[in-house]
Amino acid sequence: MKIMLATKNPGKIKEITKILQGSNIELFSHKEIEIPEVEETGMTFVENALLKARSSSDVTGLPSIADDSGIEVDYLNAQPGVRSARYSGENATNESNNKKLLEELEGVSFKERTARYRCVIVFTRFKDDPFPLISMGSWEGFIAESPRGSNGFGYDPIFFLPDLGKTSAELTDKEKNLISHRAIALKGIENYFINQHNYKNEK
Ligand code: IMP
Repeated sequence: MKIMLATKNPGKIKEITKILQGSNIELFSHKEIEIPEVEETGMTFVENALLKARSSSDVTGLPSIADDSGIEVDYLNAQPGVRSARYSGENATNESNNKKLLEELEGVSFKERTARYRCVIVFTRFKDDPFPLISMGSWEGFIAESPRGSNGFGYDPIFFLPDLGKTSAELTDKEKNLISHRAIALKGIENYFINQHNYKNEK
């Protein structure tokens, strides 16, 4: 099964490829094929993921998977949310986003630093698919006071998991891919695929 992964984000590509390893899905991504960026005009992760998946199916002619994800901080009324990638401005980097979030939470006590990652994965068979698959995952944690670890991407160095005593950037790829918001959302899509005629997974 050939599926286009509607993203150029290397962190997402790496994780989604690993999570789907063992299945008969052959993944391509927007890194290999030049595709115009979609404006993420939605208010919600679902709307943005749907826009990206539909547009990818339209332009590539392939079934597509899109991921829209981000981090919500309770103290900031669920911000950065859908603006996670560009939280610190148009030319944001992972470092500048993390810095801005740490500044916003300066002096805020640990117990008020509750946060969660959100991920919506949408699968469309073709552009006008009337039955897009939508699957969601969340991952609860806290915003640390300073960055730690170098694995993962994005906000991982400041996303602290009290049960493990580590940030998500201190987890191995394998550990993160077992419990992350993205892993949970992809499981939902895979569970649907399992009942399809042409899907196999040798894991
Ligand atoms: P999107 O491309 O609009 O979906 O932006 C997603 C953004 O959310 C990323 O650029 C990261 O900043 C953040 N994000 C989503 N998932 C993760 C994750 O697993 N680890 C760290 N940051 C993440």
